[in-house]
Formats: sequence, structure tokens, C-alpha cells
Amino acid sequence: MSPHDPLSLRVTPLESFPPMERWDDWTEYDPAAWPRKVERRYMLVPTTCFNCEAACGLVAYVDRDSMKIEKLEGNPHHPGSRGRNCAKGPATLNQIDDPGRILYPMKRVGPRGSGRFERASWDEVLDALAARIRRALLEERRTEVMYHVGRPGHDGYMDRVLQSWGVDGHNSHTNVCSAAARLGYALWTGADRPSPDHENAKLILLLSSHLETGHYFNPHAQRIIDGKLKGAKLAVVDVRLSNTASMADWWLAPWPGTEALLLLAMARVILVERLYDREFLENWVNWRETLRQLAPGAPESFERFVDELIRHYAYATPEAAEAECGVSAGTIVELARAIGAAGRAFASHVWRNAASGNLGGWQVARALEFLCALVGSIGARGGTNLNTQDKFVPPPFLRPPPQSVWNELLYPREWPLSHHELSYLLPHMLLEGRGKLDVYFTRVYNPVWTNPDGLLWEQVLRDESRIGLHAALTPIWSETAQYADYVLPMGLGAERHDLMSQETHAAKWIGFRQPVLRVARERLGERIEWTHQANPGEVWEEDEFWIALSWRIDPDGSLGVRRWYESPYRKGERISVDEYYRWIFENSVPGLPEEAAKKDLTPLEYMRRYGAFLVQEGTYEGHAKKLAADELEGAEFDAAGTVTRAGKAIGVVADGSARAGFNTPSRRCELYSRTLADWGWPEHALPGYIESHVHRRHLDRAKGEYALVPTFRLPTLIHTRSGNSKWLYELSNTNPVWIHPEDAEQLGLASSDLVRLTTRIGHFVNKVWITEGMRPGVVACSHHLGRWRLNPDGAGWASALVRRDEIGPGRFRFRRIEGIRPFESADPDSKRVWWSDGGVHQNLTFPVQPDPVSGMHCWHQRVAVERARDGDLYGDVVVDTALSMQVYREWIALARPAPGPGGLRRPLHFARAVRPAPEAYRIPAATAGQA
Ligand code: SF4
Repeated sequence: MSPHDPLSLRVTPLESFPPMERWDDWTEYDPAAWPRKVERRYMLVPTTCFNCEAACGLVAYVDRDSMKIEKLEGNPHHPGSRGRNCAKGPATLNQIDDPGRILYPMKRVGPRGSGRFERASWDEVLDALAARIRRALLEERRTEVMYHVGRPGHDGYMDRVLQSWGVDGHNSHTNVCSAAARLGYALWTGADRPSPDHENAKLILLLSSHLETGHYFNPHAQRIIDGKLKGAKLAVVDVRLSNTASMADWWLAPWPGTEALLLLAMARVILVERLYDREFLENWVNWRETLRQLAPGAPESFERFVDELIRHYAYATPEAAEAECGVSAGTIVELARAIGAAGRAFASHVWRNAASGNLGGWQVARALEFLCALVGSIGARGGTNLNTQDKFVPPPFLRPPPQSVWNELLYPREWPLSHHELSYLLPHMLLEGRGKLDVYFTRVYNPVWTNPDGLLWEQVLRDESRIGLHAALTPIWSETAQYADYVLPMGLGAERHDLMSQETHAAKWIGFRQPVLRVARERLGERIEWTHQANPGEVWEEDEFWIALSWRIDPDGSLGVRRWYESPYRKGERISVDEYYRWIFENSVPGLPEEAAKKDLTPLEYMRRYGAFLVQEGTYEGHAKKLAADELEGAEFDAAGTVTRAGKAIGVVADGSARAGFNTPSRRCELYSRTLADWGWPEHALPGYIESHVHRRHLDRAKGEYALVPTFRLPTLIHTRSGNSKWLYELSNTNPVWIHPEDAEQLGLASSDLVRLTTRIGHFVNKVWITEGMRPGVVACSHHLGRWRLNPDGAGWASALVRRDEIGPGRFRFRRIEGIRPFESADPDSKRVWWSDGGVHQNLTFPVQPDPVSGMHCWHQRVAVERARDGDLYGDVVVDTALSMQVYREWIALARPAPGPGGLRRPLHFARAVRPAPEAYRIPAATAGQA
């Protein structure tokens, strides 16, 4: 046997992926040593990506000699991602090795915002935080402790922590992300996300650039391609020719904000041409109630319902839609017929895109789900399921009771139907004196940079009278971390525990994120108490941090906090993170203990070894599940086929059986929403069209006004955490303004010329990219670029050094001093940085624009576009903070505040993040008139 014969080596010749039985000791050639054949020995440890919400599986290759992670690849055992990742998954390695990352807890030593910190110990940090939170709890200040999350990355863990403290303190980023689409979906079915079965669809309609940058983009993208390979057609609605649109059979680029009308016009064609699924509509949609609203007193007939619906949507003819949306009537009819022909195999999705850009964007999701309901694709194979059917969240041991307080800084009265917290209005509300915070945690969250109106965030974060203590839990320095009192290094995807599940396809699964180096060392027999003992530096993980902090808040158990952190296996002792997950895997995941036993593993060992578990496949038609005999005890049936108990609908009769139906008050898909009518929006109770704030009627073309679409991102960027990935920044480091050639000509612009874009509160200066892939009359600029730093230290892959000057009362200008450049570090690549741009930040110049119904920030902007003026420089950002509050108040005036029926703050059947006890929903009579 020749020494070059692969069989003579321990290296496996051709494997698509190392077989599981060799994950403890896998040998392969070092590609960097080529052409020499140098063997490397690895231990393979699965984990879950943390760089977007999709939770794809990763496998870390830990070098057995150095015990260092050398690369990350996809986990073939993961049911959602099936071994495939986008560029951001493997780039986790850059984040781990980033020379600029924070490795130790830091505490502020200068004034807040001075940027001066010194190293602290975890003990010191825990003591300081615990004492302050304990005092707040003892003094019943249960709305003054707030946890504000950017990237969640776990299912339910934090809810448990906050409820164990009895505070109403969960804040999220959802209202700058997806709240509008969620509301539109939830009003239909009670489930706030769609779960399209792309793989088995005949027609896929996306209102997003889903294949590249959309929600769940890798797990969905691979299944969209699978569907296309099986013959599915793809239609994309996007004002830009995205990479996704470039692969579509139909690309529709309506005027921004008119998408709902475009979809309603298709719905009308389906109604007029009788392409709908009568059986689905009759059984599962509240057509009788809808008919009663459309034609009070009319005979209850399905035909009459359809006729009345057509009459109601008389404004949505294809011709009218063409005139309003700028998409030809012929295309609208053609696509509507294709949707009708696909029938139940019609998969669709909107998440951010038009829903998050426009006033009334939630109606885009209402209109899109209307199409699904018409053709009966909700819950069908190849159709559009509910996220609740495809996501699995196993309950932990012991659940604390819901908190009895309601925090109006989270859910203010003006937006009783907001789908999530009015998070991005926090500074405005604090400045209005609506409350204050004693302890504020930001968690992988950078609101100064991510949110609109970032300068107001800066203002309140500096102000210790409004925010007593700010602890930033973050893996990276950020524009927000510099205003923290404590900067606490938290682990990346390979450095922490979390349990996640996402609705990636027609199945339920769980994925386990784990600290790879800890697991590798434990496989070798080491015993490790805390994850920060195995991670780089003293990087910790939140799971253990919250356990340790809660234990110190209540050391003797007198506050009633400690009991939630006592081990279910060792009475009275503090739970370990192993025990937390061990209990879940042993008790809450159907099928896992049996599957593990087949492999002679405990459930926890199974999850540590495989990283994911498929709970159920083929999760279709959950609404058609028959109600069991015990569920029907005491139930009544009405003539319309509704099953009720104690006056509350619990199911519907379909095909002769009582079935679960949907999680709505009527248990049917709610075409007519009584909730909207009862809570002040009767004119929008049916899917409809709301004119956007950037409708072209509002644009003064003589003043050079355009609609700016800022809601897309480049596919290789994350959010703030792209900044510690050299590979991702090498790929994407500039975000010019997209503009159509006709508009460029009118403005006298050539490619790369500088333009000034002026919003209501400021302006930014960027270069242009002239492209026919943009709708004329509209401009677009991707977010997720334009990082800045005020401190000359801390150069890295992503941030420009800027000067921040107050150029008038409350008027600030950020001006670049220096772009990105090569820098000294332990990573030799830092001297090879060839890019200098880094893009331009735009969000600072956006006022807050809360939708009056969903509470979603309406991202699109009305902007005046002009050639840059004398003295303007690339990257300039100017903001007038006095105007910020003015625009905020203009938008608040559009809202219709609570109380709603029964004196409530919010409908009881609506989901709410970390839901309080029912009594907290009632507005105290003494304050009922205050909004
Ligand atoms: S799609 Fe999201 S979770 Fe999957 S690899 Fe990319 S960034 Fe990670």
C-alpha cells in the first residue's frame, strides 16, 4: 500500500460529513497546509447559530491539541437547516476570535458615556446588581427593572426569570421588526406568524427578499429552491429587484405602501371568478358574521356572502389597483388565477418588507392571509401553516405565576392592540416623565444604532435620573454599550446554552445551543461549574448569569425568588444549567427519552451529541383536530356549528365532527374582526387598504421628495454583531442609495455622486447607485451598515471614527474623521483590511413613527433627495432632536387609546410578551381617563 493511498491514512477519503460515531476523534487534512498532507484531529460538537432567528444547526470543530474551535460547519442532524448554513453561520468563528471582543466584565469609571471602563469580577457585578434589584422588589418598584432584548435566541427562559422576580419588565425589539405583520396574522388565526410549506407548494408568493435576506432565510431558502425544483412557481413583491426577485417567475414592484391593495385586487379576482375553496371558507372562516356586518338582515347564504364581499371590494378591481399600485391589471389577474390554480398548495410570507415600512402595514399581512383563506391553504400541505403548529416550546420545571403589575412604559394605553412593546418609544416616554428605570439591562441590543431616533436614546442613557443603572449584556462593544455602567460579555452561538425551535417547515423540532469548549472538555472528563470557566476570557452565558443573579437577589429565600432556582434533583440546592435542560429533555419533549434510550444515551446526552431533535413531522391541519370527549364535556352546539362552553367558543363543527378550530374568539379564521371593531377600528375590521404615510400623494416631487425604503439588508450582514466578523465585512461594507436611472438623470446624478437625503428630523449624506432594479420615484438604502465610534481606540473591521458636534441647540452632527483602516491586533488579517467605507448610518435621521394600531415603527421615510450641498461630506448625519419629540406627538395623536370593552388595557385573548395576571389588564378606575 502506497503512503499516498488514502486507505493507509486515518483521514477518511471522501465523506460529505464526518459520521457521528467519529465525532469524538475525527481526523482530516489541514487545507491551509496544502499541498502537504498534514493531519488535524478534531472533536466535533454541535450547537446552534445565534446570528439570526432561524436557529440553524452548526457543528464546531474543536482541535484536540489546542482545544480551540477551528471552524464551524452545518449540522446534518438538524431538521430545520439539514446541514446547510448561510455565510453568517460559519462566520461565528470570526466573532469568537475577534480581537476587539469583550472578554471580561467591565465597569464604568468616568461619567456615563465617557467611554472609560475598568475590569470587574463577576462576583462584584452580581453583588451590585442583586442588591439594587432586591431593593426595588422590597420597595414594590416592580416596573423599574427592565430587560430589553435585541436578539432573543431562546424560547421562554427569560420569561421565567422575570416572572420569578414578579416584575413587568420584558422589552423587545419586535416593534422595529415584525409587529405589524404579526398583528395582521394574529387577527386572522390567533397565530402571529406564517409557516409556509415551500417545499410542497405549487405557488409561492413572497413579500420579502426571502431567498437571500428574509426571515428564516436559509431553512426557507433551501425549501423554496426544493419547491421550485419540483415545479413550483415563485412570485415576489418587492420595490427592489432583490436577488430573490431575480429568481422569480413574477416580480411585482408596486409603489411602496400600496401592497395591500394589490393583494386585495387578487382576492377580488378569486372571488369574481369563483376560484376560491368553498369547503374551507364554509367550514373555517367566520363568513356568517362577516355577512351580518356587510349586509345586516340579509338571508344567511354563502352565495350572498360572496356577492357582498365582491361588492365590498369594488374599490379593488385590477384596473383600480393598476392605477394605485403601478402594477398592470393583466399581471394582477394572471397571478390571482395562478393562486386560484395552486389552491391549497399556495405558500406565502410577509414579515418585514411592506408590513414594517408603512402606516397600516399590518393590513398587508391581513390581505395576504385573505388570499390563503380564500384558496384554503391555511394549514394545508404545500400551503401556509400557523407558526403554532410548527414551533415546539417545551415547558421547564416549575413555572412562576404571572406578575400582577402592568408596566405602561412597555404597553402604553395609546396602543391597546400593539402586538409587542412600544420599545423604541422608551426614551420619548422617559423624557415625558411617564416613569423611570432603576435597573435596565440591554441584551445583545444596540438601540442607539438600531432604532430610529438614536440620539434620544443617547440622551436618556446618559441621564442617571431616568435610568439608574444600565448593564449591557453583549458580545461586542457597541454604540449603546458605551453608555452602560456595566458591560458584561456574553457568549456567541458556540459559547452558551439555549433551546430553540422555529417554524421552518411542516415539522416541529428543537435545537440545542451549547458552549462548545465546555462540552468538549467535559467529554474529556473535566468538571466545569460555570460556563465562563471554559469560554474565552470570562465570557459567560445568560442562563447561568440569571440563575446566579436570582440566587443572590434572594439568598435566604424570603423574597420567594430563590425557590424557582432550586434544583429539581437536589433539594434546596441551586440548580445547574445541566439540570435545567436535563429536566426539560426528560419530561417535556415527546419521543426524546425513547429515541435517546435506543442509542443508549440519556436525553441530555442525546441533545449534547446531536444538537437537535425532530419532535413531529407533517404538522398539517391542526385546526381540524377532533375535540376529545373530555374536552366536549358540558359543551353546547349552535346552529352555525360553533361549539361553546360557558359562553365561550371552544371549537367548530366540520365534516360532522367537533374540531379544535383556530385560536380566535370565534374559533374560526376571522375575516371580519370583531376585536378591531370593538377596540376602536371598525372601519378596518375587514382586510383593507390604508394609505401609507409615504403614499405618493404626500410627496412633493417639485421639492425632490421620494419614498425611502430602508427595510432591507445585505444578505451577509447580521445586526450589530456583523461588526466582529471580518469575513462578513469584507463581503459587505457599503450601502449606497439605490436610484433609478430616470430619477438620477432628473437630479443630474452619476453613479457614486453624493446625495443628501433629508427626513423630518435631519439628513444624511451618502453616494448613489444607479440601477434599473429600483422602481422609479422610490429610493432605497440598506440598513445594518454605518457603524461609528467616538473613541479613536477600538478600531476594527466595521466602524468609522466620527466627531459628534452640537451645531445648534439640540442639533447634532456626526462627521467622519476616519474610515475603516488596517489596524494592529493579534489577528494578522487586521493589517490586511482593504475596505475603508463601512457605509452610512441612516436610522439616526428617522423620527419615530408608531402605527396607531399595531404600534410598529413605520420605517419608510418621506425624504427630499438632492445633490450633496457644498460642505457636505460622505457619511454626514445631522439630527435635530427638538423635532424628534414633535413628530412623536404627531403620530401619538393618530392612536385610539384604551380602555376598551370592560375597562381593559388590551383584549384578554391577545397574546402579550410575558403575560401578566388577568387583573393587571384592567385599568384602575382612578386613572381611566389618562392616556
Ligand atoms: S440563516 Fe440565520 S441561523 Fe441559519 S446560518 Fe444563517 S444566520 Fe445562522
